[in-house]
Amino acid sequence: MKLLVMSDTHGDAEVIKQVREANQNVDAIIHCGDSELAFDHPYLEGIRKVRGNCDQDNRFPKEDLFEVEGIKVFVAHGHLLNVKSTIMNLLYRAQEVEANVAFFGHSHVLGAELVDNILFVNPGSLLKPRGIAEKSYVVVEFANHNWNVTAYNDKGEEIFTNSYEITE
Ligand code: MN
Repeated sequence: MKLLVMSDTHGDAEVIKQVREANQNVDAIIHCGDSELAFDHPYLEGIRKVRGNCDQDNRFPKEDLFEVEGIKVFVAHGHLLNVKSTIMNLLYRAQEVEANVAFFGHSHVLGAELVDNILFVNPGSLLKPRGIAEKSYVVVEFANHNWNVTAYNDKGEEIFTNSYEITE
């Protein structure tokens, strides 16, 4: 199971198109909000997407929950869960909906961690990264109780890769 995750593109539609074209072999594409595009923008077609604090279009849902190959995926921009301060509220919400993985954005800080057997991933920003110089997105794979998270810059060059093992 392979997911392409991006966030906080803040009006740059072309980078969404470019990253999608470079990663066509995925089971789902996720945008964690603040695209600042219309909900029905053609470059967002077929993407699981949520509303960020900068998104004007109220057709975006505030959060999303769906299943891919038995894995429950939760998506929220994060501003309503105060993720710039702590992931605790996001953790509680992810536990509540029994998610296996939670994707969020808002802080523009690239990162991944496993907490309480739930994988939390912020793909960073493809427009204004914070903490690192590079614009980023993430590809997440799950197989054999193992998450593999690989972050790339906007040119498709690898920034880091990490594995996280789920305990039964
Ligand atoms: Mn935001």
